[in-house]
Amino acid sequence: MNYSKKTVKDVEVSGKKVLLRCDFNVPQDKETGAITSDKRIVAALPTIQYLLEQGAAVIACSHLGKPEASFDKWVKKQTEKGKDPASLTQEKWQKSLAKLSLAPVAKRLGELLGKEVIMAADVVGEDAKAKAAALKPGEILLLENTRFEKGETKNDPELAKAMASMAELYVSDAFGAVHRAHASTAGVADYLPAVSGFLIQKELDFLGGAIANPKRPLVAILGGAKVSSKIGVINNLLEIADTIIIGGGMSYTFSAAQGGKVGNSLLETDWMDYSKDMIAKAKDKGVTFLLPVDTVCGDKFSPDAKSQIVKAGEIPDGWEGLDIGPETVKLYCDAVSGAGTVIWNGPMGVFEFPAFAKGTEAMAEALSKTSAITVIGGGDSAAAVEQLGYADQMSHISTGGGASLEFLEGKELPGVACLLDK
Ligand code: ADP
Ligand code: MG
Repeated sequence: MNYSKKTVKDVEVSGKKVLLRCDFNVPQDKETGAITSDKRIVAALPTIQYLLEQGAAVIACSHLGKPEASFDKWVKKQTEKGKDPASLTQEKWQKSLAKLSLAPVAKRLGELLGKEVIMAADVVGEDAKAKAAALKPGEILLLENTRFEKGETKNDPELAKAMASMAELYVSDAFGAVHRAHASTAGVADYLPAVSGFLIQKELDFLGGAIANPKRPLVAILGGAKVSSKIGVINNLLEIADTIIIGGGMSYTFSAAQGGKVGNSLLETDWMDYSKDMIAKAKDKGVTFLLPVDTVCGDKFSPDAKSQIVKAGEIPDGWEGLDIGPETVKLYCDAVSGAGTVIWNGPMGVFEFPAFAKGTEAMAEALSKTSAITVIGGGDSAAAVEQLGYADQMSHISTGGGASLEFLEGKELPGVACLLDK
């Protein structure tokens, strides 16, 4: 895949109507609907401000949550959840949709920009069309939740065309959604010249750079809960990394595959053969493949579990591995100290429990001290690095959990592939 894409700086935006796909999928309080973190809105500001300053008229759009755009499907789903079909009225369905309106985002975005954000009542309906047509350079309009349209997740060309018809240029800055081929993330690019905003540009520079043209040696740290959710990542990184480091819950499947005792640790027996194959493949390819040599285990999966340190593969019955041990930390810190690039996906242990966060923290600290380019991908990995206070010391923390995983898997991302090559 080509990661070198045209950006807003490579095209004329002044005086143009620009359809800007943002990631405004913000977390909300279940009861009140209040936005609980405006991080994603803040992250979108540089591209929005640039476009407005350049005299573009910005038509912003995003999805929010998972509204059910079809009444019949909504009824079916609610019935499956055990709701009485007689109680499922059009009115209730509309209410469920209203909860996922982007109006609160428009308000917050307006506060952050210090200017009015005009809110459309629909995505491609009368209101959106009229407001888009009247929009002047330097003004910003926010369309309603793109998933209120049935065609969004189906990548319906009619919807894509209708969205595109309001604008002259498409700018994509929703990295969190580029792994989805939806009307607003990919389809519209069939009808408009398409370029990236600054957020996607940075993701492509760092994630794309780390994969396509890394400063070597390239060290990949892979952890997290399960081998099965990281198969694609392991396969792809085995082809390009010089060293692979395994930690987290997935390491116990590797350990068991080599005959180790793993007690109650996370274990995916179906993936033991695969794990063995990966170790063999690494050997064939001359990739250094590091597995934990010791483990911090707990007597239960709980923040107040009793803990002890044991050798890898010697976890007593009734105990489970919840973090990498101190000898492993030393080994792994050594391995990253001379790296040119480090890609990290997946925490080394259950970092949510302070007693079992030490391995993850030690790796974060080691990364903060290297001169390597450090790239963090994966939702929980990003959360761990932030929670432990190392966020500003990494070269790049990806903003897209699922998207960054697919990136590391080497997959072609529809929302990136559709952008104009540089
Ligand atoms: P990412 O979102 O960065 O891709 P994952 O979703 O694969 O990461 O994994 C993150 C989760 O893995 C965390 O919630 C963490 O608690 C869990 N985890 C890490 N190590 C262990 C372990 N030894 N046992 C159980 N869960 C673990
Ligand atoms: Mg995760």
